[in-house]
Amino acid sequence: LFVTFEGPEGSGKSTQIGLLEKHLCELGYEVLVTREPGGTPMGEELRRILMELRNEKVAPESELLLFGASRAQHMCNVILPHLEKGGVVLCDRFADSTTAYQGYARKLNMDFIQRMHELTLYGRWPDLTLLLDISVDESERRTQQRDGDTPVDRFASENRAFHFAVREGFLDLARHNQKRFRVISADLPVDDVAARIREEVSHVLR
Ligand code: C5P
Repeated sequence: LFVTFEGPEGSGKSTQIGLLEKHLCELGYEVLVTREPGGTPMGEELRRILMELRNEKVAPESELLLFGASRAQHMCNVILPHLEKGGVVLCDRFADSTTAYQGYARKLNMDFIQRMHELTLYGRWPDLTLLLDISVDESERRTQQRDGDTPVDRFASENRAFHFAVREGFLDLARHNQKRFRVISADLPVDDVAARIREEVSHVLR
């Protein structure tokens, strides 16, 4: 079973992944928790470049291809082998983040992004994608609280219009892929979100 978590920063993806991991382990599943960009040595190196590069302007097209490189490596070496062994994969961000951020928000060519997904996913889309949805205001409030005054990454300069486009992008993807997507309001208390997630996962585990 392949489950991906999507949503803006501050939507609680990592908290919820931790809770679901614990729940599924208790049920006896072999659970692999991973993230994008990242998940492999090359992927983590690309993540560092993507998140921390400050002394050079990153062209949106290079950024897109680095996310793609990280994903292919991740699929090929980590995700597909774990799924083949019958394990459960929980991934923090995946292809839909690329479509939302680089496609809807940065406005790179959607056909190209779709072709890149075909290439880098090897035909294996997630069985379930949980979109933890919160408003742009709430996301901003939570990330400010979390990060305080510490200088974050170069993505901190993204403006509000960008974040609105990301949210709309995710919601549009959910509307067009209803079989795979579930939209969960991340405004709810942590335990309520966790219960909704367990319920959705139990449907696909059957
Ligand atoms: O995974 P995490 O929430 O740490 O991602 C941090 C940031 O990386 C996001 O808020 C976003 O600005 C950026 N990102 C991106 N395109 C992706 C994935 C993440 O621009 N495909």
